[in-house]
Amino acid sequence: RQSLTVADLVNWLHRFDELTATELDWLTELDSAIGDADHGVNLIRGTRALRERFEGQHPANVGELLGQAGVTLVATVGGASGALYGALFVEMARHVGSAKSIDVATLASSFRAGLSGVVTLGRASPADKTMVDALTPAVEALEVAAERGASLRQALVDAFAAAAAGREATTPLVARKGRASYLGVRSVDHIDPGAASTALLFEALSPHLEH
Ligand code: ADP
Ligand code: MG
Ligand code: MG
Repeated sequence: RQSLTVADLVNWLHRFDELTATELDWLTELDSAIGDADHGVNLIRGTRALRERFEGQHPANVGELLGQAGVTLVATVGGASGALYGALFVEMARHVGSAKSIDVATLASSFRAGLSGVVTLGRASPADKTMVDALTPAVEALEVAAERGASLRQALVDAFAAAAAGREATTPLVARKGRASYLGVRSVDHIDPGAASTALLFEALSPHLEH
């Protein structure tokens, strides 16, 4: 299979919720170090709400699914990350419109649109130690995969690897956006919580085609 359907994407959000639950304590720990310790709790409120929203009722097309997901995240997550994750999904939704499924090229271009939404709202540059540092390399990996005509499976594996590398690369950075920026150089030597959860978002997408 070379494209993701609405059902696949509902499954993605379901897996994101499962991974968030599994990693909840870790996300809390990361945000305790350089923030206010609520990132895990903020996020799981949103992923639980997504699960409830799409349980047994799938929207008609990909744009509706992603748009409803974005609005749900904005309404439930709170904090800086709620608005930013909301912007990611809402801009992806606008980009894909009423498509019934999305291939690697459309996945790449929709995540590119989502990243632009995050940057427009949050004004973070690469290396500011935010979710942008995991999202940007993941989007680039999808774009490279699309250009090379890689399989969907390979594209998703590459995107997760890139997001995870981006997450790790936040460790030595000084935070320049969000709450962690109040710490200045004391934010060094910690993984950014939002970059960590963004890597979970791509991990959730990655094993989709294993069966
Ligand atoms: P809050 O900081 O309001 O408590 P969360 O803890 O849920 O919100 O989310 C914090 C994460 O949000 C950070 O780790 C960072 O990745 C992300 N973030 C904060 N501000 C920005 C921004 N301006 N641009 C991009 N990401 C940001
Ligand atoms: Mg926080
Ligand atoms: Mg907070």
